[in-house]
Amino acid sequence: MKPSAPMPETTPVLSPLPAAERTHGCGELRAADAGRTAILAGWVQRRRDLGALIFLELRDRTGAVQIVLSREREPQLHARAESLRSEYVVWLEGEVVRRAPDTVNPQLATGEIEIHATRLEILNDSRTPPFSPAETAPVDEETRLQYRFLDLRRPAMQANLQLRHAVTFAIRHYFNRQGFLEIETPFLTRSTPEGARDYLVPSRVHPGEFYALPQSPQLYKQLLMMGGCERYFQIARCFRDEDLRADRQPEFTQIDLEMSFPHQDRLFHLIEGMLAAAFAAAGKSLHTPLPRMSWEQAMREYGSDKPDLRLPPMADLAGRIAPATRAQLKLHAQRPLWAIRIPAVGELSRRERDELRPLAEGKRIRLFEDFARLRKLDPALADAAVEATDAAEGDLLLLAGAAEDTAAAIWELAAEAGGLRLAAAQKFAERHKRQRSGDFRALWVTEFPMFEWDEREGRWMAAHHPFTAPRESDLATLEADPAGARAQAYDVVLNGVELGSGSIRIHRAEVQRRIFALLGMNEEEAQRRFGFFLEALRYGAPPHGGIALGLDRLVMMLAGESSIREVIAFPKTASAVDLLMNAPAAVPEAQLKELGLALRPGQKASS
Ligand code: ASP
Repeated sequence: MKPSAPMPETTPVLSPLPAAERTHGCGELRAADAGRTAILAGWVQRRRDLGALIFLELRDRTGAVQIVLSREREPQLHARAESLRSEYVVWLEGEVVRRAPDTVNPQLATGEIEIHATRLEILNDSRTPPFSPAETAPVDEETRLQYRFLDLRRPAMQANLQLRHAVTFAIRHYFNRQGFLEIETPFLTRSTPEGARDYLVPSRVHPGEFYALPQSPQLYKQLLMMGGCERYFQIARCFRDEDLRADRQPEFTQIDLEMSFPHQDRLFHLIEGMLAAAFAAAGKSLHTPLPRMSWEQAMREYGSDKPDLRLPPMADLAGRIAPATRAQLKLHAQRPLWAIRIPAVGELSRRERDELRPLAEGKRIRLFEDFARLRKLDPALADAAVEATDAAEGDLLLLAGAAEDTAAAIWELAAEAGGLRLAAAQKFAERHKRQRSGDFRALWVTEFPMFEWDEREGRWMAAHHPFTAPRESDLATLEADPAGARAQAYDVVLNGVELGSGSIRIHRAEVQRRIFALLGMNEEEAQRRFGFFLEALRYGAPPHGGIALGLDRLVMMLAGESSIREVIAFPKTASAVDLLMNAPAAVPEAQLKELGLALRPGQKASS
């Protein structure tokens, strides 16, 4: 069948929506429906004009189906169909007909049938779209975001939004059954310290004063526990003004949760149940209960506080290397020597091995990728590396050790070795199938340090946030040894990605005041910023704890996508711009005046 020459432009006659409702979704019809009458509505995603016959592919949210318009059978409809173009909106009625075996289209779920139209109404026309939602060829992201309404019509985006809905719905259902109340907390609020910049909203009624958009509902959810709500959750929007990375958005969604009288085990069990429900909603499974690992072990064995368990841990060979070899390899005398195994990459060529070297450039560790050379140099060390990592034929073995002249702290070096481990694995991801879809490995990381030293500010910072409780056993020595204090904080990590973090909270005003003081906040500042909170703690605050998990990230991973923008209906670009609505935008001078605001010279107001 040859497509005919391009048709002359005709102006379509547009109709109102007919009274008869749709009987099917376009993607729902199957061979068993042959003989039925179907009423469909959707978008024309392809049109082939063969003269006597016009073929349409009609698409709605459920999929696509082939429509046939015959000049012989329905001359009027056929004439009307000549004006149809890509993304026109139509309503039609027709008979479901089985296709002849040689015309079955295996690409389409509805490929065994077609619709012989008996009525056709054109509900709307369309400009020629900048890209066709039917094409799978890549479209640049700016165009996609600018025309997001077209982009959302693409089956892949429809599938992602449906998945997001299914996962969110399953999570709500799960928490409801566990006795949690979904409670909304304000967007217009005070600053909540989560370590990012606040988005501020000027108050018209109180000129010169500002609300902050919440970085998280942290303080509210704790206040809800003090309010006797006992079990709270929320699919909560959070706002953080930070420089964006691939998987960050200025506004994002958290699965936020808090409970009173929490035992860490109970909380872990609850979240594991929630994850299992979310995975099931996505047709996937996650092995629970999740393993647990202290922060120290994670750093030592994986060089990361979010270990990717799809790869084996590193092994420390510091006790197995001869002093002479250390000296010869210019390695630090007191630091670990990490053996890194990347499984099943197969034999590497000289060139491939050379490509590993730049991974260690600019780092304070030295990388040894030539194992044969190492074996010649120190056979006992080579044997120890094989034994400690369980290396087998076809695995890649690397050694990473601190350079002899480095003064870096052990955790910094571990993080560099861990980074190297991931980068090397990434390089050969295809070969060892680490990215195999469906391979999900999660764990809990526990006992994080309570504080981190901030060089620039010259003070201790809360590693999680300032409301996190220290271990009971560290309470007495907090001020004497902040570095040694461990928090009752935990992260849930999936495939090397931090999915959520939470903690058991401080529920006594006295302890909270000590933490504020340790963080360099004097009494007056603590009172000014958190006076209401300290006051609330003084009226019988129950022990409580909670967690927040990134919904966007979770859905992204379940969808097998690599950017959260693929699972958010209207995301912003990496420079925090909404390309569809053109936000942020200048506002008229009058509006600024009403808010008591003036722009500095050089900054723009709209006319
Ligand atoms: N508010 C914390 C966060 O957004 C989570 C928590 O501690 O529950 O990361």
